[in-house]
Amino acid sequence: MPSVSLPVHLLAAVLVATSIAAIAWRAHSLSGSGAFAAIIVGTAAMTSGWRWGALLVLFFITSSLLSRVRRARREDVTCGIIAKGGTRDAAQVLANGAVYALCAVLSVTLEGLASQQLALAALGALAAATADTWATEVGTVFGGMPRSIATWRTLPAGTSGAISLHGTVAMVAGATFIALSAAALGLATSVPLLVIAGIGGALADSLLGATVQERRWCATCERNTECRIHDCGAATVLVGGCVWVNNDGVNLVATVLGAAIAMLGTT
Ligand SMILES: [Zn+2]
Repeated sequence: MPSVSLPVHLLAAVLVATSIAAIAWRAHSLSGSGAFAAIIVGTAAMTSGWRWGALLVLFFITSSLLSRVRRARREDVTCGIIAKGGTRDAAQVLANGAVYALCAVLSVTLEGLASQQLALAALGALAAATADTWATEVGTVFGGMPRSIATWRTLPAGTSGAISLHGTVAMVAGATFIALSAAALGLATSVPLLVIAGIGGALADSLLGATVQERRWCATCERNTECRIHDCGAATVLVGGCVWVNNDGVNLVATVLGAAIAMLGTT
């Protein structure tokens, strides 16, 4: 536990998390709701210890920077397909960061083996979130014509469940980056385990994205989309997947899986 008293530590954590969220909000990396969620997730992580906060910041900064690379091209490619753009809202922040923050808090609250396992679970969750986010950001603009991980048919870039060589390289790089950073911060002892957890979570994300995530169709534009109401203003119809499973739900499951793989890898 931190050496300073808890109220002081908590206050400092809130201040740092709020400052970072405010900068990200001003830079349009976070929406208003996204900034609010980031303050909660960031405060929880930093209250667990500065190293937990630092790792979260590394994930957040690299992901935000990657989503700025060729932003105009990304918006061109994904326009009308994905429901949300580069500005993250609360659901996106929580889908990527909630499992990490919750497990980090629990790991410093509990003791013994449970503490160690929850610390690993937190790291596995963040490795999965990073692997998936890096893969999505890189694959969308550099991945050319991707293929469905489930059917291997070519899909428009930006479609959930579509994978490409560039995106896959970025996925492995993202998992490795978090694993090495966690080791450098003294939070992790097994880099390979976290890399596997990150890759496993991100692959599950693609697989769920290609199968159970809802797929919709705009009859007016004759295009596949994830939006309930298309950019053209027309209501879209469900053509595949489950109606209540969106991208954020899939992301959340992927981080839970990343956490589970990291935790089970120790037993
Ligand atoms: Zn349309």
